[in-house]
Amino acid sequence: MNTPHPTSLVWFRRDLRCFDHAALSQALRHSERVFCVFVFDTDILDALADKADRRVDFIWHSIKELDKALTTMGGGLIVRHGAAREVIPQLVQELGATAVFTNRDYEPAAVMRDAAIAKTLKRVGIEFNTFKDQVIFERDEIMRGAGRPYSVFTPYKNAWLKRVTGDDLVPHPVAEFTHAFARPESSTLPTLNELGFQPTDLIQLGVKPGMSGAQAAWDTFQNTLANYDEVRDRPSLDATSHLGVHLRFGTMSIRDLARTAYYAPGKGAQVWLSELIWREFFQMILYHHPRVMTQAFRTEFDAVAWETNPERFAAWCAGRTGYPIVDAAMRQLNQTGFMHNRLRMIAASFLTKDLHLHWLQGERYFAQKLLDYDLASNNGNWQWAASTGCDAQPYFRIFNPVTQSERFDPQGVFIKRYVPELAAVDAREIHAPWQISPIEQQIYGAIIGRDYPAPIVDHDAARVKALAMFKCIKEIDSLSK
Ligand SMILES: Cc1cc2nc3c(=O)[nH]c(=O)nc-3n(C[C@H](O)[C@H](O)[C@H](O)COP(=O)(O)OP(=O)(O)OC[C@H]3O[C@@H](n4cnc5c(N)ncnc54)[C@H](O)[C@@H]3O)c2cc1C
Repeated sequence: MNTPHPTSLVWFRRDLRCFDHAALSQALRHSERVFCVFVFDTDILDALADKADRRVDFIWHSIKELDKALTTMGGGLIVRHGAAREVIPQLVQELGATAVFTNRDYEPAAVMRDAAIAKTLKRVGIEFNTFKDQVIFERDEIMRGAGRPYSVFTPYKNAWLKRVTGDDLVPHPVAEFTHAFARPESSTLPTLNELGFQPTDLIQLGVKPGMSGAQAAWDTFQNTLANYDEVRDRPSLDATSHLGVHLRFGTMSIRDLARTAYYAPGKGAQVWLSELIWREFFQMILYHHPRVMTQAFRTEFDAVAWETNPERFAAWCAGRTGYPIVDAAMRQLNQTGFMHNRLRMIAASFLTKDLHLHWLQGERYFAQKLLDYDLASNNGNWQWAASTGCDAQPYFRIFNPVTQSERFDPQGVFIKRYVPELAAVDAREIHAPWQISPIEQQIYGAIIGRDYPAPIVDHDAARVKALAMFKCIKEIDSLSK
């Protein structure tokens, strides 16, 4: 890096905060004047089918807050709408900047975009400096012998824990260097309508965007951290952090979270830290194996004869499968943009092992609906549930949606929240309502097939068929060896 740069540009992407920010910290330290920009990138936005997308609304509010915070610090945010590939080089020219500073994004499309921009800038002598920011360890930092990436989580996690030191968790300072901030001449935040989107129910749902929202979620969750291991699997308690979306858009710093969890005593914090490490594990997997976006990690499973059944897929999407725990899960997703982790596992297992539909169908549906959608985590977890991924659930372990329901929502509290048709049903009977006698169905005001769907598949039969679908692959595989 040539130091100091007379003028630099910090490009914010999935790091919408102005504290503990690697690129911003470096730019402020190595430049006389620092401008900041966020691009509503049409290459990303144009691909979103739903023009009332809660993620765009979340970003919009977070950008508004970020601009205000940067202005208070002596700077401000330039906001542009266009293809980042073109906007960034143009803006560099307009500002007369000699360097761009930005935090690394490991998704394949982002890697390609950044490489293209770096090349364009290099031709005119402008630096494109990238930094690790959204993870504690990235790319090749945690590798097994002979420079090969891990494909099993536990050894990866052990290596992660062995390698981490206090230095990896130290914040990147910003507040000490604010004298270098440059105030943009003028920049207005386009409205959602101007961006081609509509406002959503995000705020009414109680989601708090921006750094302030992240801090509020974190403050609340810290009361639960010590018991996380005991309460995390109970959807009705809603006891997880809800920080997924904040990690996705960087309104919270991963170092702040990992540092607290790392130094906190007790099993709850340890288990929660493991979840943060799962996030890094899947980011590492996607970085090293971008083909997983469309293919099974274990390529032999690309031969599974998944079925095509639009009616069943539509019933799953709408939460009308007749399995209350699956339906409650899907309705939570549709209504709020969030689904509890245990339910994501149950819903994904049901799509693949009970309905025999391709995991990519479910993965794409979650990608449209999840507020915390993250390509690496979504893909990795879907492949885990479908038994096609690295370190996946073995194919012969198939969740029974009724026993999962009895175990993780024993009183049916969560089910009743999202499946009001079953509000009067006794807790013992709510997990398999098709077994309730016709007279009792009348008493409960829940006639199966009229008020609530009959099960669209029989789990026991579906299980046998799923085993056969996978076993056939294993046999083909062993014959070819
Ligand atoms: C089929 C399926 C799809 C999923 N899709 C996504 C997704 O698109 N985006 C996403 O962030 N997570 C995904 N997950 C993982 C997990 O369900 C969510 O991270 C979690 O439910 C988010 O809620 P929380 O922030 O309250 O999590 P907490 O339980 O408080 O966990 C804290 C953080 O750890 C990380 N984390 C937790 N569990 C996992 C995991 N299994 N894999 C990777 N990271 C994890 C997340 O960043 C999460 O915010 C998926 C899981 C499944 C089974």
